[in-house]
Amino acid sequence: MMTVTEKLRLISKESADIIDFIEEIFNNIKRCEPKVNAYISLDSMEIAIERLMNSMDKGKLSGILVAVKDNISTMYMPTTAGSKVLYDYVPPFDATVVERIKKDGGIIIGKTNLDEFAMGSTTELSAFGPTRNPWNLERVAGGSSGGSAAALAYGGCDIALGSDTGGSARLPASYTATYSLKPTYGLVSRYGLIPYANSLEQISPMARSVEDLALLLEIISGWDKKDATTLGLKRIKLTDISPADLKELRICIPLNLIDIAEKEVKREIWRFIKRLETEGSRIDEIDLAWGKEALSAYYTIALAEASSNLSRYDGILYPTENLGKNYRNHVLLARKKFGFEVKRRILLGTFILSEGYKDRYYVMAARLRRLVRENLMKLVTKCLIVLPTSPTLPPRIGEKIKDPITLYALDIYNIIANLAGIPAISFPIGFSSGLPIGAQLMTEPLGERKLIAAGLSIEELTGLRGMVADAC
Ligand code: GLN
Repeated sequence: MMTVTEKLRLISKESADIIDFIEEIFNNIKRCEPKVNAYISLDSMEIAIERLMNSMDKGKLSGILVAVKDNISTMYMPTTAGSKVLYDYVPPFDATVVERIKKDGGIIIGKTNLDEFAMGSTTELSAFGPTRNPWNLERVAGGSSGGSAAALAYGGCDIALGSDTGGSARLPASYTATYSLKPTYGLVSRYGLIPYANSLEQISPMARSVEDLALLLEIISGWDKKDATTLGLKRIKLTDISPADLKELRICIPLNLIDIAEKEVKREIWRFIKRLETEGSRIDEIDLAWGKEALSAYYTIALAEASSNLSRYDGILYPTENLGKNYRNHVLLARKKFGFEVKRRILLGTFILSEGYKDRYYVMAARLRRLVRENLMKLVTKCLIVLPTSPTLPPRIGEKIKDPITLYALDIYNIIANLAGIPAISFPIGFSSGLPIGAQLMTEPLGERKLIAAGLSIEELTGLRGMVADAC
């Protein structure tokens, strides 16, 4: 399927009709959505066309259909975070990223499915049912931004937004043969993102090509007075980048971590590394000895932050309906609406922060995080770290949610970029029995231009761009 950049080129030369592109997307939605369940709410084609009429010639995204993860606030459009707690919540404001997309003419057509409050890796933990993988309907699409990834993979939108606290945009990208880039912490405003773990997360662009990722990230990036954690930078320029010379790439491969991947993933990542080597990239082997402990540090910090963030859902502010006869009873009934995984995380997070245990868990995890960051900073100024995005192929529906530990481990390769706040791009590298496999590159803070340049040449090398799945 045509990428956004290709469409925009044709439209500007007047050799294509934008309405035909919109129709194509809504036809795909009609065919696939009943089987895939990528969207929680969705506007009609007529509404999209009406918005187009109002936004014509507005900017770089004019006429482009955007899917937004349902934990990102949209004015007058429900924003549920995949939870029963917020099932009828309609924000009175737009998230900054949404505002910027609209300002550039982008048309938001719907809100995509996710694990409740973005806590998960498969989109099975949504109160709105699981999202299925358009490449194989028996498999998950990854999570927690599974809806955005699946919509892209079946051609149900042009570009999408996800959020990545510990891999939630990259993991589903890799399971659906699409692209995502987790930006440097602070490059993109989180104003209007329903928070899970603030010190780790970034809203992340998702797309069917590297060029499209660059375009969307450029538009949403930059300082925002409404988010004090944004860096004091203007929009970062990303649409003028030429592909990197593969001979000049310096790649580091963490052998001890690659070793724990499933054999199909290992085979594909090694094939990919060998291809880079043949092209002249320099490959160095490294060891990230703390790799497995980093996963524990991530979950300790994420759950502690989550327990504090989720205390706002007390039934007074959200949801607003009248539930109980007195305060205690009301709050109790409101909090019963959380799903089991969210309850587990609130309980664990509260325990981690409690008197007498805080030093043992939270403080220890924060120390480990500092070590991870210091160690990574030294490496990423010298080389791009390459890793698979997931240690496994896309799991079967129902396979991973039975055991939280195996579910948590799906993000073992992703969480290190969130702990360190560094950027990481995930891209498809191949297939095994029809199931997509992805890899990622990580670099130094604000090294997004490097990642896009490398991504562009890797995309040329693999030829895996603009792909649309065929299972629906
Ligand atoms: N698997 C991670 C978690 O559940 C990813 C979450 C995310 O990035 N939103 O915490």
